[in-house]
Amino acid sequence: MENVAIFDSPGKGRGLKASKEFWAGDVIFSEASLAAVVFDSHAERICHSCFRRQEKLQRCGQCKFAHYCDRTCQRAGWAEHKQECGAIKAYGKVPNENIRLVSRIMWRIDKEGSLVSDLQLTTLDELEDHLNNMQEDDLKELKVDIHNFLDYWPRTSKQHTIDDISHIFGVINCNGFTVSDQRGLQAVGVGLFPNLCLVNHDCWPNCTVILNHGSQSAVNTIFHSQRRIELRSLGKIAEGEELTVAYVDYLNVSEERQRLLKTQYFFDCTCEHCSNKTHDDIKMGGREVEGVKPSDEQVKEATNYCFDMMQKMDKARLNGDYHEVVKICRQCIEKTEPVLAETHIYQLRMWSTMSEVQAYLQYFEEAADYAHKMVEGYIKLYHPNNAALGMAAMRAGVTHWQAGLIEVGHGLVCKAYAILMVTHGPTHPITKDLEAMRMQTEMELRMFKQNEYVYHSMREAALKNKPMTMLHEPKSVEEGIKNLFHRRK
Ligand SMILES: [Zn+2]
Ligand SMILES: [Zn+2]
Ligand SMILES: [Zn+2]
Repeated sequence: MENVAIFDSPGKGRGLKASKEFWAGDVIFSEASLAAVVFDSHAERICHSCFRRQEKLQRCGQCKFAHYCDRTCQRAGWAEHKQECGAIKAYGKVPNENIRLVSRIMWRIDKEGSLVSDLQLTTLDELEDHLNNMQEDDLKELKVDIHNFLDYWPRTSKQHTIDDISHIFGVINCNGFTVSDQRGLQAVGVGLFPNLCLVNHDCWPNCTVILNHGSQSAVNTIFHSQRRIELRSLGKIAEGEELTVAYVDYLNVSEERQRLLKTQYFFDCTCEHCSNKTHDDIKMGGREVEGVKPSDEQVKEATNYCFDMMQKMDKARLNGDYHEVVKICRQCIEKTEPVLAETHIYQLRMWSTMSEVQAYLQYFEEAADYAHKMVEGYIKLYHPNNAALGMAAMRAGVTHWQAGLIEVGHGLVCKAYAILMVTHGPTHPITKDLEAMRMQTEMELRMFKQNEYVYHSMREAALKNKPMTMLHEPKSVEEGIKNLFHRRK
């Protein structure tokens, strides 16, 4: 690996540094998973080989548990599934995702030894398990998992000590990477990418990590590429500089980020943005109108109210009661919008949900309005090449296009495209979607400028013919994938 080197990062243990200079969008390294599994809750909707969401999947005839797009995927996934298939049959039921992942890792290591990654920077033994830091409840769950693992693990497979088994459960607990579906919109599984585990956290990182599902569609497997993560540079990185990614979303105040990092990853974040409490004031601040700011008391009251409404909103959304969601959001926005800053993170949550749900209910103009406010707020808070900002701009662009606001829509799509070229790269399916959308909106914009009447009639036809590819039911969509690593439940 000529691009990176392991070094002792002050106060953080091991870390990775750049061995040469990088520029925005450079792939610093890519890595296939050591093992990955589909979540229990998605086992019938996601292909167990390529992790794509598919309408119709074929079931493994042997265990009746694994699902695949087709025979090509089944064949590609057989090496990973072979032993699991037999074990599930013998066990008579399906163990949970943690146990399935640990088992897949064990079988792979038993077969290939512990240096199984392409980059070979680290071994599984060397990865942190943080067993000593675990809370009592988590330890209890860990014990149950280990107990069930021992029942499930076949006698014919190599036997391991409890210490070794606990270590791997500990490793996946703090290093299991969230695997998303092909559109990057929903977490559908968890995998282990050993070298990625070496990249330390910073709340304002210089890299981002993205999952590329590769391509397995060609008839000739020579042209297939593996599912892999890519570590991509967000801007210029000097030789010798430490490489970092964000484990938690920046749209939390520093205290909350530090709390999340401490409880989930067991360290105290002392990054520059936490030390300086950068943006905390505007993330929780009041709105200035003609030089007049609301009092701290008013801001606090509106913040608390907004927080309560957010809980109600989430509940209604989970129940799929979208008209109730709209009602709650509207009531909250009416009351708090005059008081809270346009960068207030609770307000941003309200706008984001409102735009998503209204777009789903096909009130595109109102959806576009809120999406616009959301993106404007994000721009003031996020790193200019943040992937979540890119995804938000894409959503806002599509919503504006749906509302017939082609000029703003095209601008947002272009903005999203520029960001995703850096964070996702030109071959990622979302970037390809965006490229097509950019060309479409550009053509429509040209037409709009020439003849508005023709544009509007053509657009109606386009909307009728093409059911929106972006219209997911908001219930199933988390707000992007904001936690890099998957947390055990
Ligand atoms: Zn597949
Ligand atoms: Zn099977
Ligand atoms: Zn920090």
